[in-house]
Amino acid sequence: MSGLSVYIHIPFCVRKCRYCDFLSVPVCRSDLPGSLIRDPDLSLISAYFEALSAEIRSAGPKLCKHVITTVYFGGGTPSLVPSVYIKNILGLLRDSADFAEDAEISMEMNPGTLREESIPDYLEGGVNRVSIGLQSVHERELSALGRIHSFQDFCRTFGLLRSAGFENLNVDLMTGIPFETKGSAKETLETAVSLKPSHLSVYSLILEPGTPLFEAYEASPESLCLPDEDTVLEIDGFTREYLEEQGYHRYEISNYAREGYACRHNLRTWDCRDYLGFGAGAASLYEGRRRTNVRDLKRYMSSPGRAAEEDKILTEQEKMEEFMFLGLRKTEGVSLSDFRERFGRELAEVYGEAAAKHRARGLLSLSAERLFLTPRGLELSNQILSDFLL
Ligand code: SF4
Repeated sequence: MSGLSVYIHIPFCVRKCRYCDFLSVPVCRSDLPGSLIRDPDLSLISAYFEALSAEIRSAGPKLCKHVITTVYFGGGTPSLVPSVYIKNILGLLRDSADFAEDAEISMEMNPGTLREESIPDYLEGGVNRVSIGLQSVHERELSALGRIHSFQDFCRTFGLLRSAGFENLNVDLMTGIPFETKGSAKETLETAVSLKPSHLSVYSLILEPGTPLFEAYEASPESLCLPDEDTVLEIDGFTREYLEEQGYHRYEISNYAREGYACRHNLRTWDCRDYLGFGAGAASLYEGRRRTNVRDLKRYMSSPGRAAEEDKILTEQEKMEEFMFLGLRKTEGVSLSDFRERFGRELAEVYGEAAAKHRARGLLSLSAERLFLTPRGLELSNQILSDFLL
């Protein structure tokens, strides 16, 4: 039986961060003092999980043909919902398919939303990798981003997970953010590394149209106090060097891991392996077909897994584009023999021109078996990857 990855989308957050354009809705009252988890809307959450369970049940005939090798609970804030829901979804998946013995089961968490009493449910369900959104250790930067948590909240979450025996922990950081300086970025990175997570993701802030941060920038760019381009470049350079020095291998444009801890779920996605996504807005790539559930929560819940925003059989050209576009994000790039096996053609025959152009500029490199971006190419990846769309 072939391997399969499963993605589960949990579209709930305490409140919206100022830069967020992910599919998530705020489900907490913001007027109660004390805990960060303020009175979440449990009736909405429970109705959503009913829909999610129905969608997973209806995928039973597909699931039972595979061994599940990775599961990823993304969001949103999966740690915001009652932990028993996460455990039950994992139980349902186990009833529907075999799990690989070493299956990687990841869950995203936001600091301040992990309840200590939830940890046994996560462990019983089999969660063995947690990704925590820290972004920065500086209160001023966190608050400008609209994050709900403080650095202290993060330390508590991280400490609880470590004491419970979670060894595979990722920390998400963000650069290019309001008030950031070289010094503050260095401090964030060094503090995160001092906690010895197994994995670090470092993303750049993108101002997405429609978000409050974008609107504020449109109204007055200076008001955001963003670092200038040179500062961001220096921060990126320092980040790469420091993380390599500290034993974190960069294996994708924004992802670094200690040996043996690269995220297998994401690697399978970048390798264009089959995955099924469940939940509002979740995408699947399965037997050459790409399908994305509707993003609208009400529509999703009224016919879970049936209403789609996109549902198409990929053409050979689209499959090749996806293979190159995603594969080149990895520092090891794409395998020439894998391309030959999948498409019955030589990579050079299809992409010879684009590859030659960027090799001449020192942005791509070719070994006997792989085509990959050079360090400089990784910095300019957006420009290069678009040349691999046919
Ligand atoms: S925690 Fe993540 S998903 Fe939730 S609002 Fe913030 S950025 Fe969006």
